[in-house]
Amino acid sequence: MTEIRPELYFRDLFEHTSDLIHILDMEGRIITVNPSWLLNLGYSLEEVKLQSIYQFIKADYRDLYQKNRRSVINGYNSDDIRFEMISKDGRSIILKGQISIIDNNKERPYTRAVLKNITAHEIIAQQQEQIKNRIHGFFKYAPVGIIVINESQIIEEWNLKSEAILGYTFDEARGMPLSELIIPYRYREAHLQGMKHFIKTGVGPVLNKTIEISALHKSGNEFPVTLSISNIKFGNEWMFIAFINDVTEKKELEALAIRRETELTQSQLLDERKTNFLTVASHELKTPLTAIKGYAQIAHKVSEVNAYDKIKPYLSKIDAHTNKITHLISELMDLSKIETGKLRINKQPIEFGKFLSEIIDSSRQIIPKHTIILVKSTDVILEIDSSRIEQVVNNLISNAEKYSEPGTTIEISSYIKEEFLIVQVTDHGIGLAEENLEIIFDRFFRVEEITNHINGFGIGLSICSEIIKQHNGHIWVESTLSKGATFSFSLPLKAE
Ligand code: ADP
Repeated sequence: MTEIRPELYFRDLFEHTSDLIHILDMEGRIITVNPSWLLNLGYSLEEVKLQSIYQFIKADYRDLYQKNRRSVINGYNSDDIRFEMISKDGRSIILKGQISIIDNNKERPYTRAVLKNITAHEIIAQQQEQIKNRIHGFFKYAPVGIIVINESQIIEEWNLKSEAILGYTFDEARGMPLSELIIPYRYREAHLQGMKHFIKTGVGPVLNKTIEISALHKSGNEFPVTLSISNIKFGNEWMFIAFINDVTEKKELEALAIRRETELTQSQLLDERKTNFLTVASHELKTPLTAIKGYAQIAHKVSEVNAYDKIKPYLSKIDAHTNKITHLISELMDLSKIETGKLRINKQPIEFGKFLSEIIDSSRQIIPKHTIILVKSTDVILEIDSSRIEQVVNNLISNAEKYSEPGTTIEISSYIKEEFLIVQVTDHGIGLAEENLEIIFDRFFRVEEITNHINGFGIGLSICSEIIKQHNGHIWVESTLSKGATFSFSLPLKAE
């Protein structure tokens, strides 16, 4: 075997290494460079030989290179140098490596640089850094709150929108358990159980869905949010990303829209009922007036030839119809007082038991075809506007009569319950459907299909309701359709 001379090894290394090597004389002129150097910078050896190295170094780095080289020449150990050269076609080539002085040949010392081209590496690193910064920017300035938690539900990330929504800065939130920070107390257990269940089974019913729930702000206020959580596994550990949106404003707008809609339908309904009311009212007022006119004409005729007892029945009819009109007109006047807020209550102490039986006695006179029974009465002194409460009781008795068959009974009772006296009027008539139990106390409401042929304006109960309200009481009805109705009202035992 022939021996290979060591110079050949070194020559081979010089020729074939991917490092860039240049050898300079003391003035900085290129003595020689290796093929990798020429390849990377795009020159031929002839073009660079004896040229100053500085003409290939990017202007910004010339000083740095010179300083580094000088310190090496002066015998100081030099650190790695990172600088840029310009290739023949004008590209920046980023290099990193060592400059050394070779002075074993004292007469002709030279410097040698062994460099790596790190351009591609740095460009990739820069691009990665840029991508990282961009993603971080998207995360930081996302228009939705983003929270990242680990398996132990410890907060690891918290963007600016989360700060704005929940009130905690990232520094305050980082490292805290999510449930203790933003989940209202009553949901915490469920949240923890849900996390445990997921980690055990891989099943999470709230994952990858948008749910609406309450969150806790730093100030302690609860507010509505939408929350979507997705999960991702890094190595062996699950991470959870929560997207959170404050929907307080949206909810308020929705509630406002619903309120407006209800107000609108209510006012449309009221308008409809008012129009209807005008038709009913004119009809109701005209009927007794026509009757009065008719009876007056007959009485007039009869009076020419007959004695007073022949005229009397007609005069009684005129009287009865006049009463009806008077009643209707006073209902109208009460309604206008309520609408203008002028219905006044004048309270005086009164013995209620006696007062009630007197009302019932006079009702029996006016309503002869029903049996009116006082089932139970309470002797108590109440401070009330007796004429207004009498109006309420009369109205309830008159309705009981209107909406039940002659021959049936109407039962009345009064008793004490807690701080109130309760008065009840029960009939065994047509009753009311469940859906009408509350609205019959509204102005102008009448159950149309049944009441068309029965006299009334549909305002009596709303007046009763206002009178009872002004006494700080309450009025309500219990009924089953076609089984009769019990109207009740309460009056406080101690007036305020
Ligand atoms: P109205 O003058 O029409 O009787 P109210 O305000 O007194 O007006 O009553 C409103 C509506 O409630 C009535 O039109 C009727 O449909 C219903 N109502 C009132 N009292 C009774 C009752 N005792 N039984 C069945 N329905 C009743």
